Amino acid sequence: MNFTRFPRRKYIQTPTAIEPMPALSQALGGKVNLFVKRDDQLPGAAGGNKTRKLEFCIADAMEKKADTIITCGAVQSNHCRLTLAWAVKEGLDCHLILEERVKGSYKTDASGNNFLFQLLGVKSIEVVPGGSDMMGAMEKKAAGLSEEGKTPYIIPGGASNAIGALGYAACAAETMTQLNDLHLNIDHIVVPSGSAGTHAGMVVGMTAMETGIPVSGMNVSREKMVQEEIVYKLAKETAAKLGVKKEIPRDSVVCFDQYVGPGYSIPTDSMVEAVKLFAQTEAILLDPVYSGKTAAGLVDRVRKGHFAPGTNVLFLHTGGSPALYAYMDSFRK
Ligand SMILES: *Cc1c(COP(=O)(O)O)cnc(C)c1O
Repeated sequence: MNFTRFPRRKYIQTPTAIEPMPALSQALGGKVNLFVKRDDQLPGAAGGNKTRKLEFCIADAMEKKADTIITCGAVQSNHCRLTLAWAVKEGLDCHLILEERVKGSYKTDASGNNFLFQLLGVKSIEVVPGGSDMMGAMEKKAAGLSEEGKTPYIIPGGASNAIGALGYAACAAETMTQLNDLHLNIDHIVVPSGSAGTHAGMVVGMTAMETGIPVSGMNVSREKMVQEEIVYKLAKETAAKLGVKKEIPRDSVVCFDQYVGPGYSIPTDSMVEAVKLFAQTEAILLDPVYSGKTAAGLVDRVRKGHFAPGTNVLFLHTGGSPALYAYMDSFRK
Protein backbone atom coordinates (compact mmCIF):
# COMPACT_ATOMS: atom_id res chain seq x y z
CA MET A 1 0.00 0.00 0.00
CA ASN A 2 1.35 3.40 -0.99
CA PHE A 3 -0.06 6.32 0.98
CA THR A 4 2.43 8.87 -0.35
CA ARG A 5 0.20 9.57 -3.34
CA PHE A 6 -2.34 11.33 -1.12
CA PRO A 7 -2.13 14.67 0.66
CA ARG A 8 -1.42 13.89 4.31
CA ARG A 9 -0.68 15.93 7.41
CA LYS A 10 1.59 13.89 9.68
CA TYR A 11 -0.06 14.24 13.08
CA ILE A 12 1.25 10.88 14.32
CA GLN A 13 4.98 10.68 14.99
CA THR A 14 5.22 7.21 16.56
CA PRO A 15 3.07 4.06 16.31
CA THR A 16 0.55 3.65 19.13
CA ALA A 17 1.56 0.94 21.58
CA ILE A 18 0.42 -2.68 21.39
CA GLU A 19 0.21 -3.94 24.98
CA PRO A 20 -0.72 -7.28 26.56
CA MET A 21 -3.68 -7.22 28.97
CA PRO A 22 -2.68 -10.09 31.33
CA ALA A 23 -4.92 -9.11 34.26
CA LEU A 24 -7.99 -8.75 32.07
CA SER A 25 -7.19 -12.04 30.30
CA GLN A 26 -6.91 -13.74 33.70
CA ALA A 27 -10.17 -12.19 34.93
CA LEU A 28 -11.91 -13.70 31.91
CA GLY A 29 -10.68 -17.23 32.59
CA GLY A 30 -7.07 -17.08 31.39
CA LYS A 31 -7.65 -19.15 28.24
CA VAL A 32 -7.62 -16.31 25.70
CA ASN A 33 -4.73 -13.84 25.52
CA LEU A 34 -5.97 -10.29 25.12
CA PHE A 35 -3.91 -7.44 23.69
CA VAL A 36 -4.77 -3.81 23.08
CA LYS A 37 -3.66 -1.28 20.46
CA ARG A 38 -3.72 2.09 22.17
CA ASP A 39 -5.30 4.40 19.60
CA ASP A 40 -6.89 6.10 22.59
CA GLN A 41 -3.42 7.60 23.05
CA LEU A 42 -3.13 9.09 19.57
CA PRO A 43 -2.20 12.79 19.45
CA GLY A 44 -4.99 15.37 19.24
CA ALA A 45 -6.74 16.90 22.26
CA ALA A 46 -7.73 13.91 24.46
CA GLY A 47 -6.85 11.30 21.81
CA GLY A 48 -8.83 8.81 19.78
CA ASN A 49 -9.22 7.24 16.37
CA LYS A 50 -10.34 10.23 14.28
CA THR A 51 -6.80 11.65 14.22
CA ARG A 52 -5.75 8.91 11.77
CA LYS A 53 -8.54 9.83 9.37
CA LEU A 54 -8.02 13.56 9.79
CA GLU A 55 -4.40 13.28 8.66
CA PHE A 56 -5.87 12.69 5.21
CA CYS A 57 -9.13 14.70 5.37
CA ILE A 58 -7.59 17.92 6.68
CA ALA A 59 -4.69 17.61 4.25
CA ASP A 60 -7.24 17.33 1.44
CA ALA A 61 -9.02 20.43 2.74
CA MET A 62 -5.77 22.39 2.89
CA GLU A 63 -4.77 21.28 -0.58
CA LYS A 64 -8.10 22.68 -1.77
CA LYS A 65 -7.21 25.99 -0.04
CA ALA A 66 -10.02 25.74 2.50
CA ASP A 67 -9.91 28.12 5.46
CA THR A 68 -12.92 26.65 7.26
CA ILE A 69 -13.92 23.10 8.23
CA ILE A 70 -17.52 22.02 8.69
CA THR A 71 -18.33 18.64 10.18
CA CYS A 72 -21.11 16.87 12.09
CA GLY A 73 -21.70 14.30 14.78
CA ALA A 74 -23.73 13.34 17.82
CA VAL A 75 -23.97 15.73 20.77
CA GLN A 76 -20.97 14.10 22.54
CA SER A 77 -19.05 13.45 19.30
CA ASN A 78 -15.36 12.58 19.67
CA HIS A 79 -15.03 13.14 15.95
CA CYS A 80 -16.25 16.74 16.29
CA ARG A 81 -13.83 17.33 19.20
CA LEU A 82 -10.84 16.02 17.23
CA THR A 83 -11.77 17.74 13.96
CA LEU A 84 -12.07 21.00 15.88
CA ALA A 85 -8.76 20.34 17.66
CA TRP A 86 -6.80 19.73 14.46
CA ALA A 87 -8.52 22.67 12.74
CA VAL A 88 -7.33 24.87 15.62
CA LYS A 89 -3.78 23.52 15.23
CA GLU A 90 -3.87 24.27 11.51
CA GLY A 91 -5.31 27.77 11.96
CA LEU A 92 -8.62 26.86 10.29
CA ASP A 93 -12.11 27.87 11.47
CA CYS A 94 -14.37 25.00 12.49
CA HIS A 95 -18.18 24.86 12.59
CA LEU A 96 -20.13 21.90 13.99
CA ILE A 97 -23.60 20.56 13.23
CA LEU A 98 -24.73 18.30 16.09
CA GLU A 99 -27.45 15.68 15.69
CA GLU A 100 -29.60 15.21 18.76
CA ARG A 101 -30.08 11.47 18.20
CA VAL A 102 -31.52 11.08 21.70
CA LYS A 103 -34.22 13.74 22.18
CA GLY A 104 -33.34 16.36 24.78
CA SER A 105 -29.74 15.13 25.09
CA TYR A 106 -28.04 18.36 24.00
CA LYS A 107 -27.24 20.63 26.91
CA THR A 108 -25.10 23.73 26.48
CA ASP A 109 -23.62 23.21 29.96
CA ALA A 110 -22.88 19.47 29.48
CA SER A 111 -19.55 17.94 30.42
CA GLY A 112 -17.32 15.70 28.29
CA ASN A 113 -16.72 16.54 24.64
CA ASN A 114 -19.43 19.16 24.71
CA PHE A 115 -17.45 21.21 27.21
CA LEU A 116 -14.33 20.74 25.08
CA PHE A 117 -16.10 22.15 21.97
CA GLN A 118 -16.36 25.46 23.81
CA LEU A 119 -12.90 25.28 25.37
CA LEU A 120 -11.28 24.63 21.96
CA GLY A 121 -13.04 27.66 20.53
CA VAL A 122 -15.62 26.30 18.13
CA LYS A 123 -16.85 29.00 15.71
CA SER A 124 -20.47 27.84 15.81
CA ILE A 125 -22.64 24.92 16.87
CA GLU A 126 -25.98 24.17 15.24
CA VAL A 127 -28.13 21.46 16.84
CA VAL A 128 -30.55 19.57 14.58
CA PRO A 129 -33.10 16.84 15.46
CA GLY A 130 -32.23 13.13 15.18
CA GLY A 131 -32.72 11.76 11.66
CA SER A 132 -32.00 15.13 9.99
CA ASP A 133 -30.23 15.26 6.63
CA MET A 134 -26.78 16.01 8.05
CA MET A 135 -25.06 16.47 4.68
CA GLY A 136 -27.86 18.86 3.69
CA ALA A 137 -27.38 20.84 6.90
CA MET A 138 -23.62 21.04 6.34
CA GLU A 139 -24.05 22.12 2.72
CA LYS A 140 -26.43 24.87 3.83
CA LYS A 141 -23.88 26.05 6.39
CA ALA A 142 -21.16 25.94 3.71
CA ALA A 143 -23.25 28.01 1.31
CA GLY A 144 -23.76 30.69 3.99
CA LEU A 145 -20.04 30.81 4.80
CA SER A 146 -19.13 31.01 1.11
CA GLU A 147 -21.34 34.06 0.80
CA GLU A 148 -19.33 35.63 3.63
CA GLY A 149 -16.19 35.04 1.56
CA LYS A 150 -14.97 31.93 3.34
CA THR A 151 -13.71 28.75 1.65
CA PRO A 152 -15.41 25.93 3.55
CA TYR A 153 -14.62 22.22 3.35
CA ILE A 154 -17.06 19.56 4.55
CA ILE A 155 -15.77 16.49 6.39
CA PRO A 156 -18.55 13.89 6.63
CA GLY A 157 -19.63 12.38 9.96
CA GLY A 158 -16.83 10.36 11.54
CA ALA A 159 -14.54 11.36 8.63
CA SER A 160 -15.78 8.09 7.16
CA ASN A 161 -15.34 8.50 3.45
CA ALA A 162 -12.67 6.81 1.33
CA ILE A 163 -10.22 9.63 2.17
CA GLY A 164 -10.60 9.24 5.93
CA ALA A 165 -10.64 5.43 5.83
CA LEU A 166 -7.12 5.56 4.33
CA GLY A 167 -6.05 6.39 7.88
CA TYR A 168 -7.13 2.97 9.08
CA ALA A 169 -5.66 1.13 6.11
CA ALA A 170 -2.44 2.86 7.21
CA CYS A 171 -3.12 1.72 10.78
CA ALA A 172 -3.35 -1.87 9.54
CA ALA A 173 0.11 -1.47 7.96
CA GLU A 174 1.47 0.08 11.18
CA THR A 175 -0.01 -2.78 13.22
CA MET A 176 1.52 -5.49 11.03
CA THR A 177 4.96 -3.88 11.21
CA GLN A 178 4.68 -3.89 15.00
CA LEU A 179 3.43 -7.48 15.19
CA ASN A 180 6.27 -8.64 12.96
CA ASP A 181 8.80 -6.75 15.10
CA LEU A 182 7.32 -8.26 18.27
CA HIS A 183 6.94 -11.63 16.54
CA LEU A 184 3.44 -11.66 18.00
CA ASN A 185 0.96 -13.84 16.13
CA ILE A 186 -2.47 -12.22 16.51
CA ASP A 187 -5.35 -14.52 15.52
CA HIS A 188 -8.20 -12.03 15.62
CA ILE A 189 -8.74 -8.26 15.72
CA VAL A 190 -11.82 -6.66 17.32
CA VAL A 191 -12.81 -3.09 16.38
CA PRO A 192 -15.82 -0.80 16.90
CA SER A 193 -18.04 -0.32 13.85
CA GLY A 194 -19.77 3.07 13.84
CA SER A 195 -19.55 5.43 10.88
CA ALA A 196 -17.48 2.53 9.48
CA GLY A 197 -14.18 4.15 8.43
CA THR A 198 -12.19 2.41 11.13
CA HIS A 199 -13.62 -1.03 10.39
CA ALA A 200 -13.49 -0.61 6.60
CA GLY A 201 -9.92 0.75 6.63
CA MET A 202 -8.68 -2.14 8.78
CA VAL A 203 -10.36 -4.69 6.49
CA VAL A 204 -8.80 -3.07 3.41
CA GLY A 205 -5.34 -3.00 4.98
CA MET A 206 -5.48 -6.56 6.30
CA THR A 207 -6.81 -7.83 2.95
CA ALA A 208 -4.24 -5.93 0.88
CA MET A 209 -1.39 -7.32 2.99
CA GLU A 210 -2.88 -10.84 2.92
CA THR A 211 -2.35 -11.23 6.65
CA GLY A 212 -5.12 -13.77 7.10
CA ILE A 213 -6.14 -12.05 10.35
CA PRO A 214 -9.95 -11.74 10.63
CA VAL A 215 -11.40 -8.42 11.80
CA SER A 216 -14.66 -8.38 13.76
CA GLY A 217 -16.69 -5.19 14.05
CA MET A 218 -18.87 -4.48 17.07
CA ASN A 219 -21.82 -2.33 16.08
CA VAL A 220 -22.75 0.73 18.11
CA SER A 221 -26.06 1.55 16.42
CA ARG A 222 -27.22 -0.37 13.37
CA GLU A 223 -28.36 -3.94 12.69
CA LYS A 224 -25.78 -6.48 11.52
CA MET A 225 -26.78 -6.69 7.84
CA VAL A 226 -27.22 -2.94 7.40
CA GLN A 227 -23.85 -2.17 9.00
CA GLU A 228 -22.03 -4.90 7.08
CA GLU A 229 -23.23 -3.44 3.78
CA ILE A 230 -22.09 0.06 4.82
CA VAL A 231 -18.65 -1.23 5.84
CA TYR A 232 -18.33 -3.36 2.70
CA LYS A 233 -19.24 -0.49 0.37
CA LEU A 234 -16.76 1.86 2.05
CA ALA A 235 -14.07 -0.85 2.04
CA LYS A 236 -14.47 -1.31 -1.72
CA GLU A 237 -14.31 2.47 -2.32
CA THR A 238 -11.23 2.78 -0.11
CA ALA A 239 -9.49 -0.17 -1.80
CA ALA A 240 -10.20 1.39 -5.21
CA LYS A 241 -8.79 4.76 -4.08
CA LEU A 242 -5.66 3.08 -2.73
CA GLY A 243 -5.24 1.00 -5.86
CA VAL A 244 -5.51 -2.31 -4.00
CA LYS A 245 -5.81 -4.96 -6.69
CA LYS A 246 -7.02 -7.73 -4.40
CA GLU A 247 -10.80 -7.95 -4.22
CA ILE A 248 -12.35 -7.34 -0.79
CA PRO A 249 -14.23 -10.58 0.01
CA ARG A 250 -17.75 -9.86 1.24
CA ASP A 251 -17.26 -12.37 4.03
CA SER A 252 -14.23 -10.48 5.34
CA VAL A 253 -16.73 -7.92 6.68
CA VAL A 254 -18.30 -9.31 9.85
CA CYS A 255 -20.38 -7.30 12.33
CA PHE A 256 -22.03 -8.16 15.63
CA ASP A 257 -25.10 -6.21 16.76
CA GLN A 258 -25.88 -7.96 20.05
CA TYR A 259 -24.13 -5.31 22.16
CA VAL A 260 -25.87 -2.15 20.90
CA GLY A 261 -28.66 -2.36 23.48
CA PRO A 262 -31.62 0.04 23.09
CA GLY A 263 -29.71 2.28 20.69
CA TYR A 264 -26.77 4.52 19.85
CA SER A 265 -25.17 6.11 22.92
CA ILE A 266 -27.73 4.59 25.32
CA PRO A 267 -25.90 2.86 28.17
CA THR A 268 -26.20 -0.91 28.65
CA ASP A 269 -25.39 -3.04 31.72
CA SER A 270 -22.76 -4.98 29.76
CA MET A 271 -21.07 -1.72 28.67
CA VAL A 272 -20.93 -0.50 32.29
CA GLU A 273 -19.50 -3.85 33.40
CA ALA A 274 -16.87 -3.86 30.62
CA VAL A 275 -15.80 -0.26 31.31
CA LYS A 276 -15.37 -1.11 35.01
CA LEU A 277 -13.54 -4.35 34.20
CA PHE A 278 -11.00 -2.62 31.92
CA ALA A 279 -10.52 0.16 34.48
CA GLN A 280 -10.08 -2.20 37.42
CA THR A 281 -7.82 -4.78 35.77
CA GLU A 282 -5.71 -2.81 33.28
CA ALA A 283 -6.38 0.81 34.34
CA ILE A 284 -7.57 1.49 30.80
CA LEU A 285 -10.34 4.05 30.34
CA LEU A 286 -12.95 3.16 27.73
CA ASP A 287 -15.94 5.25 26.66
CA PRO A 288 -19.68 4.57 27.05
CA VAL A 289 -20.65 4.86 23.37
CA TYR A 290 -18.00 3.00 21.32
CA SER A 291 -15.08 1.28 23.05
CA GLY A 292 -17.24 0.32 26.05
CA LYS A 293 -19.83 -1.49 23.93
CA THR A 294 -17.09 -3.02 21.78
CA ALA A 295 -15.38 -4.27 24.94
CA ALA A 296 -18.72 -5.65 26.16
CA GLY A 297 -18.86 -7.69 22.96
CA LEU A 298 -15.27 -8.86 23.37
CA VAL A 299 -15.84 -9.86 27.01
CA ASP A 300 -19.05 -11.73 26.17
CA ARG A 301 -17.47 -13.61 23.29
CA VAL A 302 -14.44 -14.62 25.39
CA ARG A 303 -16.73 -15.85 28.21
CA LYS A 304 -18.92 -17.80 25.81
CA GLY A 305 -15.90 -19.59 24.34
CA HIS A 306 -16.11 -18.13 20.84
CA PHE A 307 -12.30 -17.94 20.76
CA ALA A 308 -10.40 -21.25 21.03
CA PRO A 309 -8.07 -21.62 24.05
CA GLY A 310 -4.69 -20.04 23.33
CA THR A 311 -6.11 -17.52 20.86
CA ASN A 312 -4.41 -14.11 20.75
CA VAL A 313 -6.99 -11.35 20.32
CA LEU A 314 -6.13 -7.70 19.64
CA PHE A 315 -8.66 -5.10 20.79
CA LEU A 316 -8.38 -1.78 18.93
CA HIS A 317 -8.99 0.90 21.57
CA THR A 318 -10.37 3.86 19.63
CA GLY A 319 -10.53 6.27 22.57
CA GLY A 320 -13.44 8.45 23.63
CA SER A 321 -12.88 8.61 27.38
CA PRO A 322 -13.89 12.31 27.66
CA ALA A 323 -17.47 11.12 27.12
CA LEU A 324 -17.26 9.16 30.41
CA TYR A 325 -17.70 12.43 32.28
CA ALA A 326 -21.04 13.01 30.60
CA TYR A 327 -22.27 9.58 31.79
CA MET A 328 -21.15 9.43 35.42
CA ASP A 329 -24.64 8.55 36.70
CA SER A 330 -24.60 5.29 34.70
CA PHE A 331 -21.49 4.17 36.56
CA ARG A 332 -22.57 5.27 40.04
CA LYS A 333 -25.81 3.28 40.02
C1 LIG B 1 -15.90 7.47 15.98
C2 LIG B 1 -15.49 6.51 17.06
C3 LIG B 1 -15.51 5.13 16.84
C4 LIG B 1 -16.06 4.50 15.61
O1 LIG B 1 -15.24 4.62 14.50
P1 LIG B 1 -15.93 4.69 13.05
O2 LIG B 1 -14.80 4.85 12.15
O3 LIG B 1 -16.87 5.85 13.11
O4 LIG B 1 -16.67 3.42 12.86
C5 LIG B 1 -15.05 4.30 17.82
N1 LIG B 1 -14.61 4.78 18.99
C6 LIG B 1 -14.59 6.09 19.25
C7 LIG B 1 -14.10 6.53 20.57
C8 LIG B 1 -15.03 7.00 18.30
O5 LIG B 1 -15.02 8.30 18.57
